[in-house]
Parts: sequence; C-alpha cells; structure tokens
Amino acid sequence: MTLLVTGGAGFIGTNFVRHWRSERPDEDIVVLDALTYAGIRENIEGLDGVDLVVGDICDTALIEKLLRDRAINRLIHFAAESHVDRSISGPGAFVQTNIVGTQSLLDAAKTVWLDDGSGRPHRFHHVSTDEVYGTLSPDDPAFSETTPYTPNSPYAASKAASDHLVRAWHRTYGLDVVTTNCSNNYGPYQFPEKLIPLCIGNALTGKPLPIYGDGNQIRDWLYVEDHCRGIVAALEQGEAGETYNIGGGAERTNIDLVNALCAEIDSALAADEGLAARFPDCPAAHGGDTSFLIEYVADRPGHDRRYAIDDSKARRSIGYAPEVAFAEGLEATIAWYLGRR
Ligand code: NAD
Repeated sequence: MTLLVTGGAGFIGTNFVRHWRSERPDEDIVVLDALTYAGIRENIEGLDGVDLVVGDICDTALIEKLLRDRAINRLIHFAAESHVDRSISGPGAFVQTNIVGTQSLLDAAKTVWLDDGSGRPHRFHHVSTDEVYGTLSPDDPAFSETTPYTPNSPYAASKAASDHLVRAWHRTYGLDVVTTNCSNNYGPYQFPEKLIPLCIGNALTGKPLPIYGDGNQIRDWLYVEDHCRGIVAALEQGEAGETYNIGGGAERTNIDLVNALCAEIDSALAADEGLAARFPDCPAAHGGDTSFLIEYVADRPGHDRRYAIDDSKARRSIGYAPEVAFAEGLEATIAWYLGRR
C-alpha cells in the first residue's frame, strides 16, 4: 500500500516519512511537497521507498492524478505555511496554502475516492495544531477536543478553517477523515526560524537568544517522534470523523526551555573538547555560561500565553502515550544539531 504525504520535506513530515519507512519497510510513500523555503529536498532524498513529487497542494488535477495512478487510498496532510510570525507579516500565503490548499486536497480525494464510484476504503488524515483553541490562563484546564475554537493569529485562524473544511467533507460528503491537533513539536530537521533550532544555532555561534516579552509564555512540548507515533495510531485506529489531541505532557515556559537548552549546551561543550574547538564563539567553549546570550525582545502581537493539551481521548481510544521525556528529547535534539553543524 502506498501512502501520500503532503509536506513530507518539512520538519514533521520528514520525521514522519523516516519513522514510517523504518516501521513499515514494505509500505512505500509518495511525498507531495512544493519545496517552499521550509521544505528541504535533502531531508528525504535517496530514502528507499520514498518518491518525492514536487508540486502544490492547490493543484487539484495533480493530486487526482497521483491518487489514481499510484492507487493511493490514504493520505496524511502536513503541508502548510507554519510560522506564526510570517502569518502576521503576510497572511495571504497562509489563507492560500492552509485553507485553499486543504480544500483542493479534499476535492481531489472526494472525486477519486467517492465520486468515481470506486467505493474503495480510504482515509484522509489532517494534521493540525492546538493553536486553533486559542490561549489559556494559568489555571484553565488543558485543551480538549471539545474546547471551542478561538484562534488568535492568522496562522491559527487558517488552520482552524482547514479543520472545519475537513469536518464538513466528512459530514456532507461522507469522506473518511481523521484530524489530530498537537502541541509544539521539537526534534531533528526543524527549520531554524523556530525557537529551539534558532536558539541552538545562535548559541553555538555566540549570537543573542531572543526571548519574546517576559518569556513566561507556556507551551506543551511534544517530541516529534512521539507525534509520529500518535499520527500512526490515529491513522490506523482513529474513528472516521473524529479528532484527537496529541500532547507531550511537558508544559514549560519559553524562558525555562531556553535556560534548559543553554545548560545542555554548556555540559555538551564542557564534556567534549572537540565541540569546544568547533564552536569557539559559544560562551561554553571558554567555560562561560551560554544563558548570558539571552536577550528579551518586544513581544509578538497577540501572543498566546499558554497552551496545554489534554490527550486523554487519544490515550483511551487509540492507545497513544508519549514515550520521550522532555529532558531526554531535548538532549537528543541538541545532539542531532551538534552533529549537523
Ligand atoms: P514546516 O513549515 O516545517 O513544513 C511545511 C512543509 O509543507 C514544507 O515542506 C513545505 O515545502 C510544504 N508546503 C508548504 N506549502 C505547500 C504547498 N502549497 N504545497 C505543497 N507543499 C507545501 O511545517 P511543520 O512544522 O513540519 O508542520 C507540519 C504540519 O503540522 C503543519 O500542518 C502544521 O500546521 C502542523 N503543526 C506543526 C507544529 C509544530 O510544532 N511544528 C505543531 C502543531 C501542528
């Protein structure tokens, strides 16, 4: 069976493609990716059983052709514009890719899987975010699948719209869909504009580590490999039309996260002279404290204060549970970036 993965050259898509191929060496993947600035061909190029098709999810005819010609019955939809700051300065691309692009995929899936009369079993798995639920106060209960949608950024609003479209294509046309909403992912292959890889890169080169506002915004960190396990569980065991929250159970303020990251870099460089020689501009290379690079900058407009995920439905009904503790995941992530630079 062949799986179509949109956005498979991006951060989570790359991790998913690698995860799937290592778990299911007999099941091939077609990746459809436009290779925007966030899509890196080298992330997946040359992987056995993975075929990269460079194309846009807004190209409905291309998707229909792929579904037909490659006899694809299941797709996982990661492709998106994903950076909140970019959505504030240029929301148009987010509306186009995240909303119009999702509609294009849904239309193609409906045409090939339902209208053509094949009646074959199929599944459309939509990957979304906890940001659709808005923001929490410190004492609010975590987001559950029944929390009302109150997106605050253009990114979150575009993802919320795409979630609604996916639901509507199920309720109206009977498309077999499942949606997962996850918290902030971290791990290998993340594009360096996001907080963790940005801070690792800046720390190693002695540049400032920018922290928005007071740094007390809370995120619920999810190791990307755990997210991949959650997606497989929902794809294979989720009920049609249902949504599942996937969390990491690791709420941290941004400032605590960056301090933990600095401490990890300090110990890595203290333990390995070779690393200290490779990164001479990092304060830890000379016995200094990397956290001295932290610099507070003006807050992002509309910045959500806290996200937290209640993933009890996924634990109960599809057997999901995160396996990687935050400290372990952070260490593995930093080790991966140290090896790459
Ligand atoms: P990413 O920005 O790293 O990757 C996005 C990928 O989509 C890239 O490979 C890009 O080339 C591709 N793409 C963009 N526009 C396209 C188009 N029009 N046609 C085809 N491909 C296109 O994103 P990510 O962090 O890997 O996120 C993947 C998905 O997970 C997104 O839907 C995002 O909303 C969701 N999500 C991410 C996080 C996170 O912490 N990263 C958290 C929750 C949900």
